[in-house]
Amino acid sequence: MSSLIAAARSFLLLEILKGMGLTLKYLFKPKATLNYPYEKGFISPRFRGEHALRRYPNGEERCIACKLCEAICPAQAITIEAEPRPDGSRRTTRYDIDMTKCIYCGFCQEACPVDAIVEGPNFEFAAETRDELYYDKEKLLSNGDRWETEIARNLAADARYR
Ligand code: SF4
Ligand code: SF4
Repeated sequence: MSSLIAAARSFLLLEILKGMGLTLKYLFKPKATLNYPYEKGFISPRFRGEHALRRYPNGEERCIACKLCEAICPAQAITIEAEPRPDGSRRTTRYDIDMTKCIYCGFCQEACPVDAIVEGPNFEFAAETRDELYYDKEKLLSNGDRWETEIARNLAADARYR
């Protein structure tokens, strides 16, 4: 009996009709794919992308060179050197991240007491050479300047869970 049913199904092309019906059903539904890079999907406020060093609204660097981020980094990707300024405040003279070592764990951001080092929303920083992925302080600060609006919004959105 079952072989008769299978033969009838095959003869009537039922599987093909079912497949075409499914295609037709999805033809009129909103598309799940995006036309990247012209369209981009939603990114969580907790997304851990490219690193950035932030400033206060008056332009002063947030980082106070406490080196907690350097100490906690499991990949030992962060290198910091610091010395006091003439006014006694402590600031970094060198802040490097070797992005080829980074595992994007977010520990540096979690450890930072002043929200200076953060992983921003940018995921489009692929490079052709390793040298381009050795970020220095200047690069990290410029990332912070570029993404500050998005970073501040993401930190505010996630603040009550921290
Ligand atoms: S995200 Fe993790 S691995 Fe990368 S620099 Fe921060 S602490 Fe290190
Ligand atoms: S980025 Fe934050 S944790 Fe790292 S040295 Fe600066 S203040 Fe300390």
